[in-house]
Order: sequence, then C-alpha cells, then structure tokens
Amino acid sequence: MTGPTLTRRAALAGTAGLAALAAPRVRAQTAARIVIVGGGFGGASAARFARDAFPDVEVTLVERARSFTTCPYGNLVLGGTRRIEQITFTYDALARRGVRVVHDDAVAVDPQARGVRLAGGTTVPYDRLIMSPGIDLRWGAIEGYTEAAAERMPHGWVPSLQPITVLERQLREMPDGGTFVMAIPDNPFRCPPGPYERISMVAQYFKRAKPRSKILALDSKGGFSKQPLFMEAWAELYPGMIEWVSASNDGKVMKVDPQALTLTTEFGQVHRAAVANVIPPQMAAKIARDAGLANQSGWCPVRARSFESAQVPGIHVIGDASIAAPMPKSGYVASTHARQAVAAAVAALRGQEPPDPVYFNTCYSHVGPDYGISIVGTYRADGDRFVEVPNSGGISPRNETMTPERRAEQRRLEALYADGWYESLTRQMFGLS
Ligand SMILES: Cc1cc2nc3c(=O)[nH]c(=O)nc-3n(C[C@H](O)[C@H](O)[C@H](O)COP(=O)(O)OP(=O)(O)OC[C@H]3O[C@@H](n4cnc5c(N)ncnc54)[C@H](O)[C@@H]3O)c2cc1C
Repeated sequence: MTGPTLTRRAALAGTAGLAALAAPRVRAQTAARIVIVGGGFGGASAARFARDAFPDVEVTLVERARSFTTCPYGNLVLGGTRRIEQITFTYDALARRGVRVVHDDAVAVDPQARGVRLAGGTTVPYDRLIMSPGIDLRWGAIEGYTEAAAERMPHGWVPSLQPITVLERQLREMPDGGTFVMAIPDNPFRCPPGPYERISMVAQYFKRAKPRSKILALDSKGGFSKQPLFMEAWAELYPGMIEWVSASNDGKVMKVDPQALTLTTEFGQVHRAAVANVIPPQMAAKIARDAGLANQSGWCPVRARSFESAQVPGIHVIGDASIAAPMPKSGYVASTHARQAVAAAVAALRGQEPPDPVYFNTCYSHVGPDYGISIVGTYRADGDRFVEVPNSGGISPRNETMTPERRAEQRRLEALYADGWYESLTRQMFGLS
C-alpha cells in the first residue's frame, strides 16, 4: 500500500483523513505513531513490516526482554540438534533499521488518551496500537500446577517464563529406563502440533542416549494436528517407545503432585514420572486482558479484515492472544496477522478501509533426524469471520502413497525446508536480512 506522507495531522483527522490525503503535502510537526507491544513473532514482524512499508510512520516496539528465544525449534534443543543460543535473537538490527525499541514492561493501556504506560513510569503515546503480547498460562487450572510446581514439572511452553533448558536438563539427568510423562491441553492453545513434535524430539534423544526409556502422552483431546503422519512416523522410528492416551481413554490430567512427580487423570489413574512436562491451558497475556481486549474465554476477539479489537477501537490484537480460528496459534500465522494489522492501521490513519486480507500458515514439524512433515493453510475474511479458503491447503503425503525411497527423500526435503522456513522468518522479523 502506498500513499501520501502520513502525518499525525492526517492520522488524527479520522474520516476527514481522506480529504487530507487529497490535499497537497504539508509537513506536520510529527509523523503518525504506531506502537507495538510485544516483540515476538507477531510484534517483531509488525515492526519490521511497518518500518519497511511505511517510512513516514514512526514505529515503536515495546518489549520487556532484551532478547527473544523462539518456541519454534525449541523442541530441537530437547532432541539435541539445536542449542538455545542458535534460537535466540536480539532487537539490535531492528533498531538499526529505524524501529524505536523500548525495553520495558507495558503495564496499562489508556485507549481514550491513546497511551501505553510502562513499568518505568513513562507513557508511550500512539495513534494506533498493535498488541502481540502472546500468552499466559492458567496456573491452577490443573490442580496443583502452580508457578512453583513448574520448576519441578516444567512446561517449556513460554520461553520468557521458563527457558527450554530447564526441561532439557531434567531429561539429560533422567536415568535410562524412566518414563517421560506429558500433559497436553485441550484446544485452543499455542501451536497445535507443538506437543507432538516435542514427543518426537524427546524420542529422538531417548533412542540415541536412553533407549530403555518410555514416553507417556496424556492428552485432553480426542485427536491432534497431523496425527496420522506423526503416528506412522513414531511406529517407524520409535517402535514401542511412545504411548499416546486420548481424553476418552482417560488422558485428561486433572491434578499433579510436584513433590511425588505424579499426574492424576480424570478417572483417577495416577501416573508416576521420571520427568513430567505439563503444558497447562492458556489465555491471552495479562496486558491484553487488563486492557479489556479479552472476552470471557480469556482470548481477544478481533475483526477479521483488520485485527482491530472487537472490544476496544483503535487497538489491533494479533498473534496467539487473538481469536482467529480456524487459523492455528502459530508463529507464522502471527507474522501474517502482523502485515495485515499494520496495513489496516495505516489505512485507518488515512481514513481508508483495510485492504482485502489473505492469511497463510505453514507449519513444519521435525519428527526425527532428516524427517520433516508439514501442513499448510490459506485463510480469508468472510464478513467478520475467518474462513479457510477451500482446497487451498495441504499436508505431507502419507507413507503408503510413496515408495520407501521416495518417502525418505520427501521427509528429508521437508526437514530441510523447515530449516529454510525458520531461517528466513527469523531473519526477516529481527531485521537481519
Ligand atoms: C514448543 C513450541 C513449538 C512451536 N513451533 C512452532 C513452529 O514450528 N512454527 C510456528 O509457526 N509456530 C510455532 N510455535 C508457536 C509460536 O511460538 C507462537 O504461535 C508465536 O510465538 C506467537 O507469537 P506472538 O507474537 O503472539 O507471541 P510471542 O512470540 O510469545 O511474543 C510475545 C512477546 O510479548 C512480550 N510481552 C508480553 N507481555 C508484555 C508486556 N506487558 N510488556 C512488554 N512485552 C510484553 C513477551 O516478552 C514476548 O516477547 C511453537 C510454540 C511452541 C510452544
């Protein structure tokens, strides 16, 4: 989207902004201000895109941490094929590209005065606000699963709360022959295939280093993303090692005891773990809930063309915090939300309608060394609903559709494409290329 120089005067003109666009260029005192809260997949992507696409706009990114460790490829740290330093990024390159990066905690939003208050005491004024603060965990939703319990039974699901290395260390220290028990939440949650990639990467590690160990996956659902592909890969690569238990087979974990390292399911079975990985139910991060952006579900309803909050005008909510089903809560999806939200925010500042959106998701999972699988989807807005474009998606082929040679090549290539996907997305969002 291109257009005349966007000044605060035009931006603040609201619907009169259209007239301002038609008028000759007049330099106002300051540029229009887009402020982004959260520098993860959605927020960093939004900052990069806004900076590149709209040079007239002042772009400020508020992120509490000085570096960002990605969830994608975190499971590979458990599998032993990545180190945490390889999946950690700083904001320096974004700053060099002209994004004003503010490292502080956003503690409140004032939608009337249009400002974000920071823990440090200052307020960052905005003309349009984009929020991508990610998720919080619902402590106590599983009885006994508190922040303190998470030290003994790591979640490894929100790197800013707990680095994946906590779980990695427990796995390394676990004696061979023990059982790794996972509790997996019901939908909606961050990264639908993530738990199953994690099972695969732990199995990859066990196969190499602790071959007598077992994995017990206790699931609050009846099925999961890419299930047939994961299951045939587990049977092929890790026979006898993984047991997955659906909700109807008593897989839903209701209670944990971090001292005894036990997990109790709905119908009263008690499972003892050598290492327990509890992924609890989730909700939009606190700042989004405090700003009145979330509904009773704990997630934030948005307009499908603009990602503008359905509850608070002038604020766009993107990424995991938003309600954007049938799109999954994924990093790649968050980055496509980001582009549309920025374009819609700038359009609104110009008094224009948001452009027609197309949203994409590609989600790769590593299942073993040289073994990748993927799922792809394309989405549009239909009124105020998100809809999947019919026949636009795809999923990796099943084993039975290929010869053994073709299959090995297909899986090897997908693992390679996954690496390319990760590299290009992270380099883009952190301004490295
Ligand atoms: C194990 C695992 C594997 C995954 N693998 C994949 C994958 O292969 N592909 C994929 O596409 N997705 C994957 N995901 C999902 C992906 O990580 C998330 O969907 C994505 O991070 C969501 O982006 P976001 O911007 O909403 O939140 P985040 O990326 O979590 O960013 C939120 C940011 O906001 C900051 N923040 C929060 N509150 C405040 C505040 N008040 N003030 C200042 N800063 C704040 C946080 O510090 C954080 O940096 C995976 C997730 C997991 C757990």
